[in-house]
Amino acid sequence: MVADLAFHSSLPMPIRVRLVLLATIAILSMAIGTWLVISRLNETRISVEREVLHNTWALDCSSLIHYLQRERGASAGLVAANLKDFETVKKMRLDSNAALETLFKNPLATETRLARLGLADLRVKLMEIRNGVDHRSTDWRRLRDAYTALINTLLGAVSYEILHQAEIYSPKLDVIAELALAREALGLLRATVNSVRGQVIRNTSDQIFIATELTLYRHHLDVVRTQSSQSEINALGSALDTQDYTWVMDAINRMLSKHEVLIAPPDGDQWWERSSRLIDALKTLEENLFDKLSRETTEKVSTQKTLVLWLSGAALVMLLILVAFVTITIARMMRDLRELSTALDQIVKKENYAIRLKDRGGRDELSQAFQLFNRLLEYTDRLIRDKETLASMDTLTGVMNRRAFMKYAEREMTRATRYGHNLSLVFLDIDHFKQVNDTYGHATGDEVIKTFVDTVKARIRDSDLLSRWGGEEFIIMTPETGINGARHFAESVRAAIAATEFPGAGHLTCSLGVAQWKPGETFESFSSRADVALYEAKKTGRNRVCIG
Ligand code: GH3
Ligand code: MG
Ligand code: MG
Repeated sequence: MVADLAFHSSLPMPIRVRLVLLATIAILSMAIGTWLVISRLNETRISVEREVLHNTWALDCSSLIHYLQRERGASAGLVAANLKDFETVKKMRLDSNAALETLFKNPLATETRLARLGLADLRVKLMEIRNGVDHRSTDWRRLRDAYTALINTLLGAVSYEILHQAEIYSPKLDVIAELALAREALGLLRATVNSVRGQVIRNTSDQIFIATELTLYRHHLDVVRTQSSQSEINALGSALDTQDYTWVMDAINRMLSKHEVLIAPPDGDQWWERSSRLIDALKTLEENLFDKLSRETTEKVSTQKTLVLWLSGAALVMLLILVAFVTITIARMMRDLRELSTALDQIVKKENYAIRLKDRGGRDELSQAFQLFNRLLEYTDRLIRDKETLASMDTLTGVMNRRAFMKYAEREMTRATRYGHNLSLVFLDIDHFKQVNDTYGHATGDEVIKTFVDTVKARIRDSDLLSRWGGEEFIIMTPETGINGARHFAESVRAAIAATEFPGAGHLTCSLGVAQWKPGETFESFSSRADVALYEAKKTGRNRVCIG
């Protein structure tokens, strides 16, 4: 009882529940793990996509800068020379407006971002500057500086968004920012030279401005060179290795000369065209870099997307396999366990050892346990059958003992009653058997009994019941046999025994008493009539058959 309780307390829940719990934990952990990996990858993908968006924003800013630079140069020149015809400037303003609208339409151009970057009032400021030009209410230097302030804000926006907000940093971003700054220095040189070239007396502060911008231009290009790859340096080299470049640099140097009277200023149209071509070349370089960067980023996005897709697919397949495997395993195990427990139940409750577990031919532990269990059942079954046989059998002769005979005899009497069949009984006793024992010994006596049984057995039918009644006395019940048949049979047995040579004992005889069953008669009465007949046979000389 104590052991029973201990057994139960160590198994707080059924195996089925524990298996299902384990499977659920396994499937859930795998699902969560997969979800974490995929969402992490997805985050990276989203951040890469944001990167692409930031690149377009920077490109839009850069484009607006470019058009404002042109507008600045042309407007400053116009104001400085006090020209009336400003068709070119108007065209440039349209270009700037278009670039500005594109920038403001960029998904990143939210009100908060524009305010943070100081771009919220970009339009208003540009209007004010343009009003100054239209009404000639400003001098060219203030005009240039006002445009420059706007451009600097945009440059700041580019560098802030691109360099400091970038989640995936690339050295190309630095190069792009430096190229933009070099371009701006060149733009300022274009505007300033465009404005001062018509003046007779050169202003020292303009010259200082030009010298400073030239230094800045060179400095930014140097930084570009140190941070660029060889192919980018080559591209920069071929962009600058032009007649325009030599001409523009020469013109700037002439503007810086003290002997302004001796050295003539550059031709206005040529200056504008050549310096603009140079600026455009730098812009193209910048755009190419942006293109390259965007391509790299886009490739990253598509790689990430493919990876996420593959991983999701693989994870799903694995999850399905896991679910299927777990379900099949649990179902099979539960089916086997149920079968085992049903079998055990039958054995315990009905003592039925004849049942067998189904051998599914598997090679796992449960199948092996099933096979061993079946072997155990077979062994037990055989033991029980052997025990039953032994309990109903006479050990010396192998025929039924009295207890087993009584069981079958009752059955035969019931059958005879039901079908109205005849039934007879024969008692047999070896004559003077005591003398055999006394003369030849007990062992020979045993052998005689065995030979006697063999001889009798050879004469009976399969349906006859032969039993050792006690000592050297035997009983035979013959179903469907009337008194004449029984007498005939008894006579044949008597003759066979009398004719038999018993090893070590020679010839022996036996006496037989026969009786036919009367319907409704008890076994006691039936057997007693046969017994009386046997006694009669003994009394009247032995080796004979008497009817009772
Ligand atoms: P009767 O002709 O009147 O039957 O004489 P009997 O000597 O055969 O009769 P009795 O009943 O006096 O003797 C039977 C003897 O059989 C007595 C007993 O020792 C012997 N006997 C009984 N069972 C066995 C046995 O299993 N083996 C041997 N060897 N002898 C047995
Ligand atoms: Mg006898
Ligand atoms: Mg006897």
